[in-house]
Amino acid sequence: MTSNPQSVLGLSRPEWAGEDVAMLYDMASRFLTEEIAPHYEAFEKAEIFDRASWEKAGAAGLLCASMPEEHGGAGGTYAHESAIIEAISHVGVDGFGIALHNAIVAPYILHYGSEEQKQRWLPKLASGELIGAIAMTEPGAGSDLQGVKTRAEKDGNHYRLNGSKTFITNGQLANLVIVVAKTDPSQGAKGTSLIVVETDEAEGFERGRNLDKIGLKSNDTSELFFNDVRVPTANLLGHEEGQGFVQLMQQLPQERLLIGAQAIAMIERALAVTIDYVKERKAFGQKVIDFQNTQFKLAELKTEATVGRVFYNDCVARHLAGNLDTATASMVKYWLTDLQCKVVDECLQLHGGYGYMNEYPIARMYRDARVQRIYGGTNEIMKLVIARTL
Ligand SMILES: Cc1cc2nc3c(=O)[nH]c(=O)nc-3n(C[C@H](O)[C@H](O)[C@H](O)COP(=O)(O)OP(=O)(O)OC[C@H]3O[C@@H](n4cnc5c(N)ncnc54)[C@H](O)[C@@H]3O)c2cc1C
Repeated sequence: MTSNPQSVLGLSRPEWAGEDVAMLYDMASRFLTEEIAPHYEAFEKAEIFDRASWEKAGAAGLLCASMPEEHGGAGGTYAHESAIIEAISHVGVDGFGIALHNAIVAPYILHYGSEEQKQRWLPKLASGELIGAIAMTEPGAGSDLQGVKTRAEKDGNHYRLNGSKTFITNGQLANLVIVVAKTDPSQGAKGTSLIVVETDEAEGFERGRNLDKIGLKSNDTSELFFNDVRVPTANLLGHEEGQGFVQLMQQLPQERLLIGAQAIAMIERALAVTIDYVKERKAFGQKVIDFQNTQFKLAELKTEATVGRVFYNDCVARHLAGNLDTATASMVKYWLTDLQCKVVDECLQLHGGYGYMNEYPIARMYRDARVQRIYGGTNEIMKLVIARTL
């Protein structure tokens, strides 16, 4: 029997994953298995998804699950987003960039957008007509976001946007980009604002190359250039300029939690495929699972994964109750992504040479896992945040 990533740890469902969340997980898994997995190899080769997959995901109800129904969403919560994110990693289509679209980009519009902005953008994000991205990082400003140089200068009822961004997830496909820009460089962090650029109509907006990464191949990642792009001042997120940093800080717990979701779900899949493999593969006349080393390794990894899953589930419960603080969210991001890389590496080892072959899922997990310790704030930055609470 094939091991199931969802039940490999043998834990019962947490309270926050009620019947509707479980149904959404099943529906998402079915959709991803039937509609996305058969094309995934082609997307990995092309290093990009097609728009049709986004629209199909929208029609299936997988986009904006946590946005209100009156804005085209499904009226769910982060628990529903978690179900979708976990299904993506359990099915093994980790390059489908909808976690960022759903649980990072759309919430900025929901929380800080005016009613008019919500009505204009959220239904299209929910259908897949708009694909979202968030552009913070610049060639000269990654961990230190206060160093952002992109400038938004007011010119009547428009901003003139100038600057360049890099490493932007969904950068080739996105047509709605939240740009972190300085509206008043003399004010440092307090002069930072979030401005929404609708790229289809933006003259002076250019996409750089689709960056050549070691993993998550099918998830396009790009440089973006803004050369005197005119953006209506009505596209500012929030009532006034200068709120960008506060808005970014407020959204961090959810962003870090969702990276934790991706981590724990991949850990579960890595364990599931490895348990299956070592039960089949033979060496020295016995199955690889029969070596005590294999049993001890997998026993250790399953124990650590269980600790990680319980911690993740607890963080989700706290987040849903509105009290997941940034330091705890940083712990879940740092600890689970470190664990993810460790588990995937050990699981690959148990596959022997086959683990190094791309046709085995563990090989792709090995490549895809690595970036988790880097984006969303590096794990070193997570430790800085945690250390501030000591
Ligand atoms: C695949 C991918 C997708 C991404 N998607 C997006 C996206 O959608 N939007 C976006 O805006 N960005 C995105 N990023 C950018 C990502 O968030 C940054 O790469 C990350 O924040 C680190 O910034 P940096 O690369 O400039 O590294 P640097 O900041 O140059 O860091 C280099 C090293 O120094 C360490 N370091 C830095 N400061 C300190 C410190 N104070 N103390 C100790 N160590 C420190 C870092 O931990 C790291 O090890 C993505 C990156 C990748 C690789």
